[in-house]
Amino acid sequence: MKKLLDGIRDFHDRVRPSYRERFAHLALGHSPDCLFIACADSRVVPNLFASTDPGDLFVLRNVGNIVPPDDAGAASGAAHPDDSAGAAVEFAILGLAVRDIVVCGHSSCGAMRAVLCDERPANAPNLDRWLQHTEPSRARLEREPALSPLLPQVDRLSQAHVLQQLDHLRSYPAVAERLAAGKLNLHGWWFDLSNAEVLAFDGETRAFSSLAEQLARRG
Ligand SMILES: [Zn+2]
Repeated sequence: MKKLLDGIRDFHDRVRPSYRERFAHLALGHSPDCLFIACADSRVVPNLFASTDPGDLFVLRNVGNIVPPDDAGAASGAAHPDDSAGAAVEFAILGLAVRDIVVCGHSSCGAMRAVLCDERPANAPNLDRWLQHTEPSRARLEREPALSPLLPQVDRLSQAHVLQQLDHLRSYPAVAERLAAGKLNLHGWWFDLSNAEVLAFDGETRAFSSLAEQLARRG
């Protein structure tokens, strides 16, 4: 907590003056053009690796960058289906009219490890229920054995999981309508922690590769 409080002091004394004008403008409203869905992991820092400023990204973070499909609650018969991810998706599209949605997984994801190795805290019923949403991702990993075969199993699951969440996004009527109208794009990204590099799924090669290199090739 000390580092956090030192950071607050530093922001107030040193950084705040250069941001005051921007925040005064943002106080009137914001118009981010991207919904960024990432894991809650402390090492995943979209504002750092995407060099974004306040107001640029509408962000949803949760354990394992999970987007349950639109009908997940109804299908499970749950008394309290999780509406958080769906609410963020609907607000981003219908309220903010974002034109891009990024689902960003990452290497060495604790949620993926918990799913694969059953390594998770005891007496955590909410976590257990939440991770049930990753079952389709495990099935997808078996369907796509060629996906990054050189990576450890936990990282291969994480990449398959990103692709599965993109499919889940398509189950939301607001997403499907915008996709059909050509007003929305979905992107699968993956942050390689050990190399501090963002990879993106390439639909042609059906593999994740350096996003910076993909952008360089496109010019
Ligand atoms: Zn994670």
